[in-house]
Amino acid sequence: MKPQAFDYARPDSADEAVGLLADGGDDARILAGGQSLMAVLNLRLAQPSVLIDISRVPDLNYVKNDGKTLAIGAAATQGMVEWRGELAREVPLLAQAFPHISHFQIRNRGTVCGSIAHADPSAELPLALLALGGQVVLRSRRGRRVVEADDFFQGMLMTARAADELVEEVRYPLARSGERYAFEEFSGRHGDFAVCAVAAVVNQDGIRLAVGGVSDRPRLKRFGALAAADLDGAINDFAWELDAKDDHHASAKFRRQLVRHLGRTAIERARAQESK
Ligand SMILES: Cc1cc2nc3c(=O)[nH]c(=O)nc-3n(C[C@H](O)[C@H](O)[C@H](O)COP(=O)(O)OP(=O)(O)OC[C@H]3O[C@@H](n4cnc5c(N)ncnc54)[C@H](O)[C@@H]3O)c2cc1C
Repeated sequence: MKPQAFDYARPDSADEAVGLLADGGDDARILAGGQSLMAVLNLRLAQPSVLIDISRVPDLNYVKNDGKTLAIGAAATQGMVEWRGELAREVPLLAQAFPHISHFQIRNRGTVCGSIAHADPSAELPLALLALGGQVVLRSRRGRRVVEADDFFQGMLMTARAADELVEEVRYPLARSGERYAFEEFSGRHGDFAVCAVAAVVNQDGIRLAVGGVSDRPRLKRFGALAAADLDGAINDFAWELDAKDDHHASAKFRRQLVRHLGRTAIERARAQESK
């Protein structure tokens, strides 16, 4: 199928983009890398009357290490972040997550902010943002607001973003001293969306374990300083809380088993790393 006809706007600035978004109302959509949106339009799952192409807006095209976070602008592609030489030191969890996202051709066009805005429950970048306790900067004609990742993802492709808000920037916290990170995923073939993905963040206070692909959104559990013997029971409780469903990719039972197995593996792998 082909998309329904739409108007195409290519703003030169973030200001102009949020103005067009406000004027367009519910019928306007941001076009970033187009790697998810074009499929949605071709299948006519959405029929916006105007697309606002931000891919060439200079003031949205940046990746900045500000000393606390890696701040990624809305036009920055996934490749721009992944292929930074310093990424494995700056945000080690992201460096581990990127290779699981489809293939490099997709990451060369798709944006980080687009993945966060789209909020696919199996996507790796929302999962990493939640595990690390990152932030999303939303901008509209009304101003800016900063939303914690914990509050941003609200359901299947649903977020705290209002229709007139641009995801202007996403902030991934930089690696913290004494903290260790591991990402694990199972998918049918390399590059497919995750049937289950987990991200573990381990420090002296405990464990943050985030799971994607099982619920309608990425989900996070914080465990205190658990004894090794209590870990399996705690992960098993979390696996049941996720309310997994059967679908044509996997049964709920198999997904719970993946949470147990990948959760344990990620935590052990993180614990085994040397802390910086
Ligand atoms: C073959 C294939 C395989 C893929 N596999 C994976 C995978 O394994 N894992 C994975 O995570 N992803 C996967 N993707 C999706 C890919 O990562 C997308 O690039 C990403 O989800 C969306 O980014 P985008 O820049 O292309 O956004 P677009 O497709 O342009 O937009 C997606 C949605 O977000 C909105 N949007 C985009 N940017 C903003 C913004 N700044 N502010 C407000 N709204 C915005 C759009 O209006 C649209 O509704 C795959 C894509 C393809 C084509």
